[in-house]
Amino acid sequence: MTDAVDAAARAGLATPVAGTGEQQPFGRPQHTPLESLLSATHSAKLRDELGVETVEDLLDTYPRRYAERGEMVDIASAEPGQDVTLIGYVTRVSSQYMRSGRRGKIYKVDFGDQPNEPTSTIEVVFFNDRSFEQPGRFIGRRMAVFGTVKDFKGQRSLSHPSYEMIDETDETGDAGAAVDTRPLPIYPATKKLSSNVVRQCVARVLDSGFHRRLADPLPESVREAERLIGLEEAYRRIHRPDEVREVDAARRRLAFQEAFLLQTVLATRRAARQAEPATPRPARANGALNAFDAALPFKLTSGQRETGERIADELAQPHPMNRLLQGEVGSGKTLVALRAMLQVIDAGGQTALIAPTEVLAEQHLRSILEALGPLASGPVGAPSRDADDLLDGEGMLGSAGTDVSGGPRVRVELLTGSMPTKRKKQVLLDLAAGTVDLIIGTHALVQDKVSIAELGLLVVDEQHRFGVEQRDALRTRADIPPHVLVMTATPIPRTIAMTTFGDLAVSTLTELPAGRQPIATHLVCLESHPTWAARIWARIREEVDAGRQAFVVCPLIADSSGQGTGGAPMTSVESTYAYLAQQPALAGLRLEPLHGGMPSEDKDAVMVAFSRGEIDVLISTTVIEVGVNVPNATVMVVLDADRFGVAQLHQLRGRIGRGSEAGTCLLVTQLPEQHPSVERLQAVAQTTDGLALSEYDVETRKEGDVLGSTQSGGTSSLRLVKVTRDGELIARARKQAFELVAADRQLAEHAPLRAALARLDDDRREYLERA
Ligand code: ADP
Ligand code: MG
Repeated sequence: MTDAVDAAARAGLATPVAGTGEQQPFGRPQHTPLESLLSATHSAKLRDELGVETVEDLLDTYPRRYAERGEMVDIASAEPGQDVTLIGYVTRVSSQYMRSGRRGKIYKVDFGDQPNEPTSTIEVVFFNDRSFEQPGRFIGRRMAVFGTVKDFKGQRSLSHPSYEMIDETDETGDAGAAVDTRPLPIYPATKKLSSNVVRQCVARVLDSGFHRRLADPLPESVREAERLIGLEEAYRRIHRPDEVREVDAARRRLAFQEAFLLQTVLATRRAARQAEPATPRPARANGALNAFDAALPFKLTSGQRETGERIADELAQPHPMNRLLQGEVGSGKTLVALRAMLQVIDAGGQTALIAPTEVLAEQHLRSILEALGPLASGPVGAPSRDADDLLDGEGMLGSAGTDVSGGPRVRVELLTGSMPTKRKKQVLLDLAAGTVDLIIGTHALVQDKVSIAELGLLVVDEQHRFGVEQRDALRTRADIPPHVLVMTATPIPRTIAMTTFGDLAVSTLTELPAGRQPIATHLVCLESHPTWAARIWARIREEVDAGRQAFVVCPLIADSSGQGTGGAPMTSVESTYAYLAQQPALAGLRLEPLHGGMPSEDKDAVMVAFSRGEIDVLISTTVIEVGVNVPNATVMVVLDADRFGVAQLHQLRGRIGRGSEAGTCLLVTQLPEQHPSVERLQAVAQTTDGLALSEYDVETRKEGDVLGSTQSGGTSSLRLVKVTRDGELIARARKQAFELVAADRQLAEHAPLRAALARLDDDRREYLERA
């Protein structure tokens, strides 16, 4: 069951569906087969190429843009910075290999206003689009390109724009009239399914009057309050506008609907959860939490204190806490979570911490054992016994549940998919028996048939990687819902907080613990400055000579595709390690590789040696993304940095500048400077403000990536709503939805809305089944 289904079921909205035994909270979704209106060929193509399954889906497949028919956008007047649609002709295609051994080709297309002897032209650059291997398919033909005009070395150019070949016949052919001045909708298309065909299919649906028979899911009161047009009119305008400006009201309405449906699901879920019972876990005097606080070697930041009090209070309530804890890398979230877990353990509950990967789970184990010191017991035996090396001889005395001094002890265990079966079984048994206090794990914790006798608090370390469904899987398995605390590694923009995390209350840690040093980040573009490679290694040498340590981060463990050319650094840990071992600049330094493919004992040994200063340069994968805390490390070199996401790079560089010295991070790329991915790196280099970066990240990534599976999986994904741009709209939709649900939790008065939500649910379920 999906979380929404589950939440709604708890809310009493469920109606059983005959035959399936499943509950569908909002009733049966409406599905009209494509074949009922379209040919079998077109139906199959829509399904295969665009994932459009039903007529309803097709109506929700909106044009990406509109080209003004018969009116050529003037290439001559396109200005840098402008977002444009240009219609013209390809006059020449040339290609070259990218330099620096990066596999791939750049295609340069001359694009002009006339097929022959154009009076104005603009350069259009495509990366790795193999269709341009056959220039004959383009030269002399009419094409529309959509993109942002850039100024590249004084020349106007478009970099990797969307494009569409335009049929000359389409101009006058399809409407029958000699001159059709209506805008031409440009639909999402693929090689096998052109925008023109999609347009014809949509036209058939509209001609049949199908859209007139659909009930409007937006309650009239909401439509009036928001001054939105009706559904039928919205579909007509978005698919068949008489003028482009007609589209605005349609988009606004359909966008509002998207946001509103999502917010209604979240409101329903929140209401259902608030009504659930939970076991109160009030703080206890003289427990593990008190002992922990007493031994804490530093003062909590005021944010940690305030959030801590808030959480302590919520844990003591008879209804479950559902809170998101966000804050900059290193702002001390894990500490807040650990203190919450100790309170729950003191009150007789068990606690679980879920990380997105095994490596991260292991690192959480290490840092939690370190933080607990003598308060911790376990894990018993393999595999992470060696983690106690990190404790510098403290802790890990005695066995589970016993304590030499008679004080409170916390039994910590790890559960990951790759643990030996026997060991895993033992941990599972102990979890079920209630003898494990704090379990740290990956998804194995969710997927296996894990039963945790007395789960009181679930902490989820999101790292942008879990969707709502996964987050909820463990929560909903418990007989009595646990309290839930979700941590995000980087601050998230308000709009994301309202969507992906919209069912949670939010706390933010805004200050970093005192004494953190600034990190200077530089972009190193080897394509334009091949000699800088040598400078990088010289820089590392200088730092090591000054008594400090360095990270070199690579995207791969082993090189599968050969190696870089011309002395450029290579992209895998193994080959970079081999290469650096030969570098005269690094002669005599202690280098070690580290990656997730190594046995965990070896990994731990390397990490321990690095943290003790016995290794100068660590060459690793993103294993070091979190958990490693080596204040003496001051330089980080990220090779092929373009292979990493913005949030990940920000996380990575959070590993340096943790001590008294300032840090330097070098983002190295072999891509040409004008490549779109390099812009991302520039953004990371320009700011250390995590919130600004996550906002940038949201703007540049696809919505689906941002929102996770929930909203991207099905056809009811957020298509028109842009979480960066539409904060206002989302906020208003949220207000309306929460008001509606507060007044009518069952949505009894809103049958069409229930039907639309059923479709949303259905898509989500399908997505989960496919995944
Ligand atoms: P986050 O999870 O937000 O990235 P952590 O909780 O892992 O941050 O904290 C990062 C580091 O800072 C850890 O080594 C932790 O012990 C330390 N730390 C946490 N809170 C404080 C504080 N108030 N003062 C000093 N150091 C702190
Ligand atoms: Mg952390």
